[in-house]
Amino acid sequence: MPLSKNSQSLPAVFGSGVLRITICSLLLMIDIESYTLLLNQVLEMTEQKAFLGVPLTRPKVAFFELSSCEGCQLQLLNNEATLLDFLSLVEIVRFREGMKEAGDDYEIAFVEGSITRMDEEELLRVIRSQARIVVALGSCACFGGVNQLKNRFNDLEWVKKEVYGSFPIETQEVKPISAVIKVDLEIYGCPIKKEEVERIVTALVLGEQVHHPQYPVCMECKARENICLFDLGEPCLGPVTRAGCAAWCPSNRLGCWGCRGPAPEANLAQLQIIMEERGVSRERMIDRLECFGGFAGFVAEVKGKKGESI
Ligand code: SF4
Ligand code: SF4
Repeated sequence: MPLSKNSQSLPAVFGSGVLRITICSLLLMIDIESYTLLLNQVLEMTEQKAFLGVPLTRPKVAFFELSSCEGCQLQLLNNEATLLDFLSLVEIVRFREGMKEAGDDYEIAFVEGSITRMDEEELLRVIRSQARIVVALGSCACFGGVNQLKNRFNDLEWVKKEVYGSFPIETQEVKPISAVIKVDLEIYGCPIKKEEVERIVTALVLGEQVHHPQYPVCMECKARENICLFDLGEPCLGPVTRAGCAAWCPSNRLGCWGCRGPAPEANLAQLQIIMEERGVSRERMIDRLECFGGFAGFVAEVKGKKGESI
């Protein structure tokens, strides 16, 4: 795909009178062609096991990590209250943080982390050839995440020397996984919200609808009746960032840093005006927008206008 701006919801789909899957709602931002392809993949991978006439499906799932802190995978293990329910939905064949086994027979691959080495590109191609559905898990996988901050220096050799000294190490410009392979789904956040992953996986397996918000974090923040952080002197990217985190950071008195990337129709020009009015310097705004890589296109545009190196 990745997620398209051509949002379109689709009606429920009934498979052979038994299996009903409505992954249309999985992501309202998937275009029809991609949706149909994905649906067929899920239907194909589904084994028609049944209990009392109710179809049961447990796709084989594997988790992989590229360059990352593995915090997104940790999130999945963090919520003991729902962990067993989550595990009952899928058959996990590989999950380094949670099990010793490392199977290669999987249908859905969750990939965490960004690409910083050539061997990660090779691993991704292997994963793509095996998995029917590849899910980018977290901001590193979706946008490059915090790892892509090193790209801003424009001098990889200098960065290597600063960080590793004379120690020989292979590292390259950071890329999101969609730069190397086709990605079917993206789950945003640094880290991801476990509840969101559960909703998406449940939608894949059981056909329940998931509504992904089409509005920015501010909507969720106001619904929680938070005091706006701009009024407390703290900048915030909530007006332009994709919602779905329940305004996690602003609800804890921390301005949003845009880890979920831009909301559909994000009004970045207006954000600049808000920042200026609130006395936030352009450099500070760009620092924030650059942090996770989701706003890279906009940052390049802003810097390009000023003729700065990017
Ligand atoms: S998105 Fe954030 S939490 Fe997830 S692996 Fe990357 S740095 Fe860690
Ligand atoms: S604190 Fe941030 S997310 Fe909340 S209303 Fe203000 S700008 Fe929006």
